[in-house]
Amino acid sequence: MSDFSPSEPHKLSLASLPTPLEPLPALTRALGGPEIWVKRDDCTGLAGGGNKARKLEYLMADALETGADTIITAGGIQSNHARQSAAAAARLGLRCILVLTDSVPGRSSTYHGSANLLLDRLFGADIRFFDGNADPDTVMADIAAGCTAEGRRPYVIPVGGSNAIGARAYIDAAAEAHEQAAALGVSFSHVVLATGSGGTHAGLALGFAAREPDLRIVGISVSRAREAALQRVQDLVEKSAELWGGGRLPEILIDDRFVGPGYGQPTDAMAEAVRLTARAEGLLLDPVYTGKAMAGLIALVREGRFGPKDRILFWHTGGSIGLFAYDDVFKKEA
Ligand SMILES: *Cc1c(COP(=O)(O)O)cnc(C)c1O
Repeated sequence: MSDFSPSEPHKLSLASLPTPLEPLPALTRALGGPEIWVKRDDCTGLAGGGNKARKLEYLMADALETGADTIITAGGIQSNHARQSAAAAARLGLRCILVLTDSVPGRSSTYHGSANLLLDRLFGADIRFFDGNADPDTVMADIAAGCTAEGRRPYVIPVGGSNAIGARAYIDAAAEAHEQAAALGVSFSHVVLATGSGGTHAGLALGFAAREPDLRIVGISVSRAREAALQRVQDLVEKSAELWGGGRLPEILIDDRFVGPGYGQPTDAMAEAVRLTARAEGLLLDPVYTGKAMAGLIALVREGRFGPKDRILFWHTGGSIGLFAYDDVFKKEA
C-alpha cells in the first residue's frame, strides 16, 4: 500500500479476504454484450457477508483505539450495515446500539420483523426505532451524550460506515482486485457498483485511480439523485485523500435512473435483475442495492453503452439476507 501510507493504520481482521473474483459466463451470454465478472464482497464472511465487513475492520479498530465500550450506528430497518456492525460488536465484546429508521413506505410485516432485523436481535443489539423523518446523526449524538453521562465510552459510526476511515477499506479492496485481475491476466474497462452512502464508491475510485487510471467506476445510485450522490462521493473522496494520501482525484460517475420511487422501494427492473442473476448463475443479489445496480448494468448493456472489447467488473456488495424482507416481491412467479 505504498501509495496510501502516511501512517499505516490500525485495522482488525473481521472479514474473510481476499474475496473471489469470478467470471459470469451465463449472465454474459444471456445479455449478449461484453464479458461480465463479479467481485464477491458478498463473501466477506462476517454475519452473512457484505461490504460493511471491510469498513468495520477499520472503524472498529478506531473505536477500540479510542477506548470505546459502546458502538452506536444507524440505518434503515433492514440495514445490512446495522446487521454487520451488531455482529462485529458482539465478536469484540462491545455493546451495540442501533438507531433504525422506518424510512421505506409500503413494506410487509416481514420487513418489520425478519431478515436483517431478526439477526440484529440475535447479535444482542440494543435496538431503538425511529420514524422515517428522524435525523440519524442527531439521534445518535443524543444517545452518545446519554451514554457519556452514564460513564460509558460511546463511539458513533455514521450511516453505512461511510467516512474517510471506512472508505480506506475500499482503497485496499481496489488494490486487492487489481492484483487478482493481474494474476488472472485479465483487465477491466468498467467497475459497476451500487452507490448508497458512498464510502464504497469513494474508496474504489481513489484506489483504482492510483493503479488503473483508465478504469471507469460507475456508481448506480440506490437513493440520491445524481447531483446529490456525486457531491457525497466527491466529498468522501476528498476527505479520504486528505487522510490517507493519494495523488490524482478520480472522476466520479453516477447513474441515478434505477432508484425507482425511492430507497428500498422495489422496481420491476430490480426484480428482473435479481431473477436473471439467480437463474443464470445461481448467484444471489439483493432488493435494495445490488439488484438495482445489476438492473443498471443490464440497461447499460442493452443501451449499447459498452464496446465489444470492454470487460465489466460487477462489484457485489452483499445484502442477500434482505431478500427475505421482500418475500412479497419474489413470491410472485415471473
Ligand atoms: C451499504 C450497502 C451498499 C452501499 O455501500 P455504500 O458504501 O453505503 O455506498 C451496497 N450494497 C449493500 C448490500 C450494502 O449493504
